[in-house]
Amino acid sequence: MEQINECKCGNKAVFNHHGKGYCGSWSALGVCNLFGYCKVKKTHSPELKRFWKKLDKLYGGKQK
Ligand SMILES: [Zn+2]
Repeated sequence: MEQINECKCGNKAVFNHHGKGYCGSWSALGVCNLFGYCKVKKTHSPELKRFWKKLDKLYGGKQK
């Protein structure tokens, strides 16, 4: 897979996910779920958004 060296914000990419570079990474539920995250633009990868939706469905918003 091609290595992306630059995040879309211009910073050095430390994490590659599905052909996109991110200057940060976000781990959810431990290290088994790693997602790309841009610290400057504060954007999550589409995969992470999908993951949150999945969590929402799992817990049905009734966590309180
Ligand atoms: Zn970035």
